Amino acid sequence: MSEKPEHFIVDGKRLDGRSVDELRPIKIELSPLDRADGSCYLEWGRNKIMAAVYGPRELHPRHRQNMTKAVVQYRYNMAAFSVDDRIRPGHSRRSIEISKVGRDAFEYVVFTKFFPKTAVDIFIEVLQADAGTRTAGINAASLALADAGIPMRGLVSACAVGKVDGEIVLDLMKEEDNFGEADVPIAMTAGGKITHLQMDGNLTKEEFYEALKLAKIGCDKVYKLQRQALIEKYNGEYAENGEDAMPQARIGDADE
Ligand code: UDP
Repeated sequence: MSEKPEHFIVDGKRLDGRSVDELRPIKIELSPLDRADGSCYLEWGRNKIMAAVYGPRELHPRHRQNMTKAVVQYRYNMAAFSVDDRIRPGHSRRSIEISKVGRDAFEYVVFTKFFPKTAVDIFIEVLQADAGTRTAGINAASLALADAGIPMRGLVSACAVGKVDGEIVLDLMKEEDNFGEADVPIAMTAGGKITHLQMDGNLTKEEFYEALKLAKIGCDKVYKLQRQALIEKYNGEYAENGEDAMPQARIGDADE
C-alpha cells in the first residue's frame, strides 16, 4: 500500500492534478464480448472493468425462482492480478458485500415483473483496481444491461465522493480512498433516485449534503457519457438498418 501523503490538495489541485469536482477520465466500449447477451468494458482512471450480462434466462435451481418476477444476480470479482498484492481467488467478505449492494442498485430499475421465474445475471470482473471499482462496476453493469436489451426504468450512474484535507471531493483516487476522512460511493438514476449509498468515515450533516450535491453533479457527468456511448453504438447500427428500426423509448428518463 502507498504511504499517506502529507497533503491531498495543494493550491487547489489534487495529487493527480484534478480539481475537487473533477472526475478521472472515463472510456467506454460496448459489446466487447461475443458470448454475453450484453457487455461493457469500462476504464475509469486506472480502473479497468469488464461487465457481462446474461438473461433473462431460466433460473436454476428451480426452488430459487420467483413466480412473480425475475431475480437479479450480481457477482463482483477482482482478478488476482488487479492490485499490487495478489488477491486470493474466490469470494471474500468484501466481494460478497459489493455483490449485494451491486444487485440492490439494480433491483429498482430492472422491470423484473416482465420476466417471472427467470434470472438476470450480471458479472463484474475487475481487471485493474485503483479505487472506485464498485461504482465503476455499477456504471459498466448499467451499460451491459442496456446492451442486452433488458427493459429498465433508466440507466444507473455511480461515483464516489469523499473528504480529504477537510474538503469534499469528487471521485476519490487510491490515496484519497485509503487515507482520506470519508468515502461515500453513490449510484442514482438520471432523475436523481438513489439506488446505492454507502459511507466509510465521518461527515457532518452539512458536509454530507454538500457531498450529495457533488455526487449528483458527478453522476450527471457519468450519465452523459453512458448515454453518449449507447447513442454512438446504436444510432450507427440503426442508421445502417434504416430509420424505422430506431426504438422510440428515450434513454434513462423513465424514472416514474
Ligand atoms: N484494494 C486492494 N486490495 C483489496 C481491496 C482493495 O488493493 O483487497 C484497493 C483497490 O485499488 C480498490 C481500493 O483499494 O479499488 C479501494 O477499495 P474499496 O474497498 O474502498 O472499494 P472500491 O473503492 O474499489 O469500490
